[in-house]
Amino acid sequence: MTTHSAARRLLLVHAHPDDESIGTGATMAHYAAAGAHVTLVTCTLGEEGEIHLPELIGLAADAADQLGGYRAAELSAACAALGVTDRRFLGGAGRYRDSGMMGLATNAHPRAFWQADLDTAAGFLVEVMREVRPQVVVTYDDNGFYGHPDHIQAHRVTMRACELARAEGFGPDKIYFQATPRSVLAAGIEQFGQTTGNPFSGVEVPDELPFGSSDEEIAARIDATDSADAKVAAMKAHASQIPLDSWLYSIAGNFGGEFMGVEFYTLAYGERGPGDGPHGWESDLFAGLATEPAGAEVPAGALSR
Ligand SMILES: [Zn+2]
Repeated sequence: MTTHSAARRLLLVHAHPDDESIGTGATMAHYAAAGAHVTLVTCTLGEEGEIHLPELIGLAADAADQLGGYRAAELSAACAALGVTDRRFLGGAGRYRDSGMMGLATNAHPRAFWQADLDTAAGFLVEVMREVRPQVVVTYDDNGFYGHPDHIQAHRVTMRACELARAEGFGPDKIYFQATPRSVLAAGIEQFGQTTGNPFSGVEVPDELPFGSSDEEIAARIDATDSADAKVAAMKAHASQIPLDSWLYSIAGNFGGEFMGVEFYTLAYGERGPGDGPHGWESDLFAGLATEPAGAEVPAGALSR
């Protein structure tokens, strides 16, 4: 049994390759750059993803069925861009298969993550936690942020694993869920609603979107604008899934670091640390925890911006 020497240890559990970069990439790069130990566990290879590069169409599940391996390689390039070296697949690469969107026949594949036995899958994650001893765990809410079966399952498996780890005395101090404030969505609708090809086109109010939290529900606002470029580079590594002409990049180009570099979280377990602003938002996922500042490893002010 080993415990990592870094004072701050952050574990993120994501469903498919690319989710880490789109949802939490700036946070991951920000903490990795500051000397925290960042561990990524990805639950599936993303075999059922939509393929956006015409030359890769033959990799699809109904053709060569090689998309998963291709996306594993994209994930390594993305993690290199984020500065994250500790990445694993839940139960080993290929143990669990991408279940596809809710209601599709792929949900019933014998290796589909949606079909996973909860305690077996959680057991794989407990082994990672036993080794890494993360103080902070990040995953999705019980709707999997937007309803994809693998995201919902990632939530269930993570919560069960934390419960099992707690029973053994090494549960995390805090569990966060990736979130987007409705106030930020409203601003996005205002700014981008008139353009096409983005999720806000045709949307008038945030309630029409399948995600969004009130400002009161948000617990942490991580300003990782210092890592926005790393996040963009990581997303570009997932080119099979996010075409280089995606609306995301045009918006990032127009609105800069804030759109890509600021990420929000709700707190699902543990005590909220000191924060500021009208809602007392934390600016650090480790706020209030007795983790030693990493001293020489951390450039002055890196974690307090
Ligand atoms: Zn996903």
